Amino acid sequence: MKEARQKPLIAGNWKMHMTLAEARGLVADILKAAEEVSGASLLVFPPFTALDEVARLLRGTGVGLGGQDLFWEEKGAFTGEISALMLRDSGCSHVIVGHSERRQYFGETDAAVNRKVRAALGSGLHPIVCVGETLEEREAGRTAVKVARQIEDGLSGLTPEEFSSVIIAYEPIWAIGTGRTASPAQAEEVQARIRGLLEEKYGIGPASCAIILYGGSVKRANSYSLFKEKDIDGFLIGGASLEADSFIGIAREALRADREEQ
Ligand code: PEP
Repeated sequence: MKEARQKPLIAGNWKMHMTLAEARGLVADILKAAEEVSGASLLVFPPFTALDEVARLLRGTGVGLGGQDLFWEEKGAFTGEISALMLRDSGCSHVIVGHSERRQYFGETDAAVNRKVRAALGSGLHPIVCVGETLEEREAGRTAVKVARQIEDGLSGLTPEEFSSVIIAYEPIWAIGTGRTASPAQAEEVQARIRGLLEEKYGIGPASCAIILYGGSVKRANSYSLFKEKDIDGFLIGGASLEADSFIGIAREALRADREEQ
């Protein structure tokens, strides 16, 4: 049985997709159906170039906005980077930190993740901190150690109060963009372990209230059974968030599973 936490959180990471015209079209389609899934919290993460426009379109709708990354400094000579303050200024409430693609292609370390988490919190943004193992690590039985280190180092030094603004996303790297989803049992095993780690660090209250998302080839067809798991509070979705039908369909399935819990 799930703890009575918050609404299912359904987050769409658009990655390096969407021109302005495409972003406008996707937002319009999401908004047409958003009312019907108002029992879920919807969040979209457009590329930086579309933040301002998407913020304008989302104003007053209840659908939230986030950035896909940030840099930890407030401002300065950091060509190509964007600060927490700039994200706030563009209408963001959330930011993804430590996505496996940032770690894999741009060399992001747990120490960098920690600095970014602190910068996000310092500006009043909710960081969604991504953790997860490679296939090689899973097959070598190192999933728990890897995820524990990412949590420990990525959240290093946060007080329980600071932690209450943090969201965790467990995203096994072998499941991202591959069409190969973790089974509900595989996902739940790690999600429960993460909640256990959070309990050791921050106590039972903050850990049981913590939002822990699952990400990795989530689709409408697998979202119901994943959301049924006790420690899955929502989803971070890549590919299936690029069309309103599948994004909203996943929210609908999470709500269906959630209703059966009540
Ligand atoms: C992601 O980008 O975080 C992700 C989970 O992608 P996909 O849903 O495409 O696997």
